[in-house]
Amino acid sequence: MATPSKISPTTLAKLAKLGIHHRADLLLHLPLRYEDETQITPIADAQPGMTVQVQGVITHSEVMFRPRRSLVCRLMEGHEELTLRFLNFYPSQQKQLAVGKQIRAIGEVRMGYFGLEMVHPKCRAADDDTPLQQSLTPIYPTTAGLAQPVLRKLINNALETIPLTDTLPAPLLKRLKLADFGDSLRLLHNPAADVSATELEEHNHAAWRRIKFDELLAQQLSMRVHHRERSKRIAPALPPHQKLTAALLKKLPFKLTGAQQKVWQEIAHDLTQAHPMQRLLLGDVGSGKTIVAALAALQAIENGYQVAFMAPTEILAEQHYLKLSEWLVPLGITPVWLSGSLKKKEKTAAAERIATGDTLLAIGTHALFQASVEFNKLGLVIVDEQHKFGVQQRLSLRNKGDEPHQLMMSATPIPRTLAMSYYADLDVSVIDELPPGRTPIVTKLVSDARRDEVFERVRAACLAGRQAYWVCPLIEESDALEVELQNAIETHQQLTEALPELNVGLAHGRLPPAEKAAVMAAFKAGELHLLVATTVIEVGVDVPNASLMVIDHAERMGLAQLHQLRGRVGRGAAESMCVLLFMQPLSELARERLKVIYENTDGFVIAQQDLQLRGPGELLGARQSGVAMLRFADLTEDEDLLEQARLTADELLRDAPDVARAHLHRWMANKHDFLQV
Ligand code: ADP
Ligand code: MG
Repeated sequence: MATPSKISPTTLAKLAKLGIHHRADLLLHLPLRYEDETQITPIADAQPGMTVQVQGVITHSEVMFRPRRSLVCRLMEGHEELTLRFLNFYPSQQKQLAVGKQIRAIGEVRMGYFGLEMVHPKCRAADDDTPLQQSLTPIYPTTAGLAQPVLRKLINNALETIPLTDTLPAPLLKRLKLADFGDSLRLLHNPAADVSATELEEHNHAAWRRIKFDELLAQQLSMRVHHRERSKRIAPALPPHQKLTAALLKKLPFKLTGAQQKVWQEIAHDLTQAHPMQRLLLGDVGSGKTIVAALAALQAIENGYQVAFMAPTEILAEQHYLKLSEWLVPLGITPVWLSGSLKKKEKTAAAERIATGDTLLAIGTHALFQASVEFNKLGLVIVDEQHKFGVQQRLSLRNKGDEPHQLMMSATPIPRTLAMSYYADLDVSVIDELPPGRTPIVTKLVSDARRDEVFERVRAACLAGRQAYWVCPLIEESDALEVELQNAIETHQQLTEALPELNVGLAHGRLPPAEKAAVMAAFKAGELHLLVATTVIEVGVDVPNASLMVIDHAERMGLAQLHQLRGRVGRGAAESMCVLLFMQPLSELARERLKVIYENTDGFVIAQQDLQLRGPGELLGARQSGVAMLRFADLTEDEDLLEQARLTADELLRDAPDVARAHLHRWMANKHDFLQV
């Protein structure tokens, strides 16, 4: 075996930028693409669009100044010629490309002004005797100042010095038709000349499949292990006494749907266990998750434990506070409210009631989990719209009690494959049925050119006693908030002028919380006909009399968001409508998206389509998902591998825990093998 190469501190710093901290990380720093320097293409055979290596003699070399400063050379091979063009160049390059020099150039051929040309080809001195490369040349993701040859050398050294023993047993590999680990890595870093560069670049090659499988397997294993460890931890057992819960069910003006009944049973059973529950409650907008959360809270309270119920926005948290107060105060449970916008004195008072155990139910925003808030006897944490919280915020929940049970809720309908991959460490309950008596929402796509007609529709609906939302778009650029605000204010003004007989309110993210709450309350009470809002109303707001929603610039919004917004109407018995106003011309992607939302009402179907259109990152708010993102596998394309990895993870943990441990160690914990200076 060769000896590991020494690396300078400057290079180490650059490697760290690429996420390479340990020598083994070098092995998994895989090429983005390859250049083929294993053969020479005659210039006569070079077609525009092809990336090829050509060889010849420089017959002309000139610095031109128009249209901009550039170095232009002619490369001749037999009777054929090709132009080489450089917009940035060094004197050394000029020397290398002087008339009479023999060189090889590799680059993409295109049709230029004077015939075939290459722009910024990679050139080196070479004649007929210079040997050709034996393998495709890998091009790695890199950072400024770290040249490809340096990276290549380091990686090849790692390949030679680190043992590439397979973590998986041969029979398993054979059964799953997977390639050997070491062979795969060696091939990806130095593919032989006859390997298809396209298969490599599209990650379809068997070597790639092996790496992707390993990654997915490691992910599955680590989540299973996490899941198992949880069942070894101790949490308070909170068995059902059926006092408060039964009383609430009796008072409700409706009966639980079958789906609500089922998930409630699952949760009640989890709470009974002496291990911390970590359950994700998935249910489309309007499926009725809040009542299930309230029942869970009551079961904890019946056992004398405290409950913290957290929502991502002030509006949503307050809505829960009001709803739960309405349900629970008659049962003798008075929740305490805690949010960032409370005055210092009020906050201290709330924290005091929580610390003494005077209150058993605290509802609020993430302010609930600040260091200054101490719970007396926390038994259950409920997090609504859990995907809106950062990993850190969610972790801080656990530190508040010994080990509270956790119920996380989300209206983001996640396709099965994704849920399996992302939440393998959680137990998942799904409410897959809407409460009865909902009238389906009619969706209309209307061009902005017909804005006036939409005004008329709003007027008619409001004068007929209904209420409406007008949603202004979310803007994602850097000064987003300013623009978004401006937009909402102008739209509000426009609507107030166009519809003088209506009371038009305005709610946006910059409004002081008290004012925002006042506007929402007025809308809820029916004092406002029309509410102009930025997407602050996106999550969870419940106003049954609102039956018309207009979404301005719908083409700018994501599918999941449109679906959630649309779910704000159609909550009462009235026929509801959602008008998607869009600006012409539409991009291809925007057209596709609007078509999906127009044709579908099922959140899960929409999510599946969204996944295909945009990839999983955006759907889940990539960095917030709490699970390390996949580097190599792609959940939209590698569904089959994911399924295999999932089954294999179960099998290994059951039959071959040592193998599982070794595999996890390779992929997750190379902590002992630091790079050497
Ligand atoms: P989400 O799942 O989006 O959080 P909510 O819990 O806000 O949904 O419920 C939406 C509406 O449906 C609320 O007004 C709620 O009171 C009502 N609701 C919930 N369950 C039922 C049911 N089984 N029958 C009738 N209405 C229900
Ligand atoms: Mg909700």
